[in-house]
Amino acid sequence: MHRPEAHCPFCDLIHGAGEVSLCHEDSEALAFMDIQPVNSGHVLVVPRRHYESLEDLPPDLGRHLFDVVMKLGPVVRDVSGAEGMNIIVNSGAAAGQDIFHYHIHLIPRRAGDGFDVRLPFPESAMPDRQRLDAMAARIIAAMTDPAGATTRAAIPQRRSTDRATV
Ligand SMILES: [Zn+2]
Repeated sequence: MHRPEAHCPFCDLIHGAGEVSLCHEDSEALAFMDIQPVNSGHVLVVPRRHYESLEDLPPDLGRHLFDVVMKLGPVVRDVSGAEGMNIIVNSGAAAGQDIFHYHIHLIPRRAGDGFDVRLPFPESAMPDRQRLDAMAARIIAAMTDPAGATTRAAIPQRRSTDRATV
């Protein structure tokens, strides 16, 4: 996973094959202008080394990439004159990842710009609280004991202050 991947457009860019408009560079990460921007100022933050998806990334590198996002975000917003920002990772083909070299989108947004991240999902039906609690319990179990996650699913105590919609 650490070698440049053949047929990876981002590895090609990182290794000098092709034009790229860099806006940040350090020993682990690059940031450059997306060539299909949602709005002017759309930036991609990528690791220098080839990792495909979120779960392939070493945690320290994932944190570093988000540090870069945190530094760039307000600057990109100001320079592009945006009113807000979407920070988006599409991890895996099912999630809409198109280039399989992990990348974080910084997308400057303006009201009425026509781009749409459809959250909350309009077709969503609110699950009942038992289903939400059960899924939360499965996640907690998997975090504690990944091997036993599928065999036990204790229901945690729910706080009485929980809001109905969260
Ligand atoms: Zn790559």
